Amino acid sequence: MITTNALHAARLNNNCPECFANDGLEFSFTQEQITKKLFTRAEKNISEKLYCHSCENTIYPVNWNEDIERVYRYHKKQAKPKQTSVKLTKLGKIIALGILLFISLVIVVFYQIPIA
Ligand SMILES: [Zn+2]
Repeated sequence: MITTNALHAARLNNNCPECFANDGLEFSFTQEQITKKLFTRAEKNISEKLYCHSCENTIYPVNWNEDIERVYRYHKKQAKPKQTSVKLTKLGKIIALGILLFISLVIVVFYQIPIA
């Protein structure tokens, strides 16, 4: 299952390169997270999108002007990505704990360590 986490979003008062409205642009930074049965992991890639609510267009970087670039760099720093390390889900933890208990039990039985 893939979920999209919103990291940061900001409205801009720059002029839209398409319709020149100065109240329609919005930057959004998102990061995808893949969740399997036993673990969950955030993807390294951050997707960034500049969308204009006035003309309902996505503005691609090729059409950005210098001002937009500057604002972009500022907001990019605000978008803190989640750690990409693998985390166990609840089920994953239960299973890991089960395996751990099983191994301890095998060791105890194998070496016949008297419990307590
Ligand atoms: Zn526009």
